[in-house]
Amino acid sequence: METELNERLTQLEQVLQSIKDAVIRVDAELLVSLMNAAATKLFKTGADYKGQSIERVAQVPVFVEFLRESNKAEDTSFEFDLVRGPHTRHIRARITQQEDGGQVIVLRDVTAVRRLERMRRDFVANVSHELRTPISVVSANSETLLEGAIDDPTFATKLLEAVNRNAGRLTLIINDLLDLSRLEAGSYSLHKSRIYPHKVACRVRESLEDKAHARQTIVDVDIEEDLTVLADEAAFFQVLVNYLDNAIKYTPEGSVIKICAEQRNAKVRVEVRDDGPGIPEKVANRVFERFFRVDPGRSREMGGTGLGLSIVKHLVEAMNGRVGVDNVAPSGCSFWLDLPPA
Ligand code: ADP
Repeated sequence: METELNERLTQLEQVLQSIKDAVIRVDAELLVSLMNAAATKLFKTGADYKGQSIERVAQVPVFVEFLRESNKAEDTSFEFDLVRGPHTRHIRARITQQEDGGQVIVLRDVTAVRRLERMRRDFVANVSHELRTPISVVSANSETLLEGAIDDPTFATKLLEAVNRNAGRLTLIINDLLDLSRLEAGSYSLHKSRIYPHKVACRVRESLEDKAHARQTIVDVDIEEDLTVLADEAAFFQVLVNYLDNAIKYTPEGSVIKICAEQRNAKVRVEVRDDGPGIPEKVANRVFERFFRVDPGRSREMGGTGLGLSIVKHLVEAMNGRVGVDNVAPSGCSFWLDLPPA
């Protein structure tokens, strides 16, 4: 009988210790009687927790306050931030009341879930914000035309030009959004093969020749002709187009932009370097986020959607590469991508 009981206890202990959620039991005085391994890890406590107050063990006043105040007749849940060292985690606690006045608390780290929820909310808000302006121009101008402006050819032309421009902008935004969602869903098919960056960079320069010319910008390609990378040609082309297009847009007229590449150990770094204003250091790690712009007004004025660099990041990561940006002396920045050599 006793061995059976012991066996059962061992099994229960094993189950408790293998649960990923942190489990704590406190008595009616909020003294800890039991913690599983996940709980001691979460609160970074030692094995000598038995009989200590939850206040001392958890060191989160709002959480302890909640346990103290919680209606002893009901099971409840509560969320709080847990700061340990440099990390802040968002924790959800479910509290089950026990007959003896104690409480069993199950804690789960919901940081990632909450972050994703926030990203989704922000994304929807950003998309709506981006679409609102062009849609309102299309709707206001067509209304003005219908109300009689159609009979004034000069005015009508102006209104229609704005409709056309904004419809074009909507197309740009929607195409970028579709690209992004295809990339995120992993349904963008990439075919990696041996690519010559020199050849692709020259084609990229050619495709943006008119734009560069209009801003008297010089684009140099400085890449060894026989250097190769393992990449999807269309994706690699698109990445360089986005980098170069930005460099032309965000540097003053008469700038010099250089597309260069070199082999560094086990990877090839391809860079688009400009001599423009560069990126403020404190936002350098955010420019690859969706809709992030250093200067939103200027970006829209230049026809930007704020999505170009996030598309770049997804494309490069889908090719097992990495992206980044560094400011360069005396001015300007270098947008780069690392790819495996072919
Ligand atoms: P956008 O459509 O606004 O150009 P991107 O995702 O391509 O969107 O770029 C995000 C932001 O990064 C831009 O709005 C701009 O503020 C900044 N940026 C990109 N490239 C450069 C550059 N070469 N020099 C300075 N700022 C740049």
